[in-house]
Amino acid sequence: MPNDENAQLFLFDGLPRPKAVAPKSATWNLWHGCLKYSEGCKNCYVYRQDAKWGRDSRSVQKTAQFDMPLERYANGAYKYPSGSLFYTCFSSDFFLADKGADMWRQAAWRIIRERRDCAFFIITKRILRFPECIPDDWGAGYENVTIGATCENQRSAGERLPFFKDLPIAHKVFIHEPLLSPLDISAYLFSGVEEVVAGGESGANARTCRYEWFLSLRAQCEAARVPFIFKQTGARFIKDGKLYVIPRPLQHIQADKAGINYTP
Ligand code: SF4
Repeated sequence: MPNDENAQLFLFDGLPRPKAVAPKSATWNLWHGCLKYSEGCKNCYVYRQDAKWGRDSRSVQKTAQFDMPLERYANGAYKYPSGSLFYTCFSSDFFLADKGADMWRQAAWRIIRERRDCAFFIITKRILRFPECIPDDWGAGYENVTIGATCENQRSAGERLPFFKDLPIAHKVFIHEPLLSPLDISAYLFSGVEEVVAGGESGANARTCRYEWFLSLRAQCEAARVPFIFKQTGARFIKDGKLYVIPRPLQHIQADKAGINYTP
């Protein structure tokens, strides 16, 4: 999902957490490799990182940590205790259309089901694949799963959010990162979405984003009484007509200083 070379460090900073307090959180990277899908993928950090090692990012491989949530100590206790929060797939997409991922996903659902005592956060650009990817016993949605649908511009929002809002999912979040255009999501904010998160693009070739786009999203969320998080500015941020080039470690700090997060 990420487009940021520091995503392993920063990707999930500021993301909403399920209501229960999680005593431990971890990134659970089930498979590595992905296919570019939409405009937000242009500067995907997975491709840039893999290129440094001569690795083909389109080759999707199951990782060694696939069973991580089930790992136990010698005394039988789970290494990740009850209440832990797992963020999935930081170098791929959970709903990726791939022969391997489509097969491994069923085992992943079994792990998620077995660890009902933990929470799982899935972020995807491929929400349109949701119906063909869920397990038979999904019902109204596993209570321990939050799904974040990512939309980077109005085109993708218009395609994905009308579909997403009606899906049987216990916890829904909108992710707008990298934000590439102004967005009108007001028609989809009254559908039980628990939070909206937005941020700019990072990396050497980052595309610009404008402060007024975030202000607009914030206003829409306020009108709908939906929490809003301005997660980070991105590397090339325009405010009052002036372009600011912001180093990666300061992007979260600058967003926080803007003080436009909203809690109803
Ligand atoms: S979906 Fe995410 S991981 Fe896959 S290519 Fe796009 S940005 Fe990269």
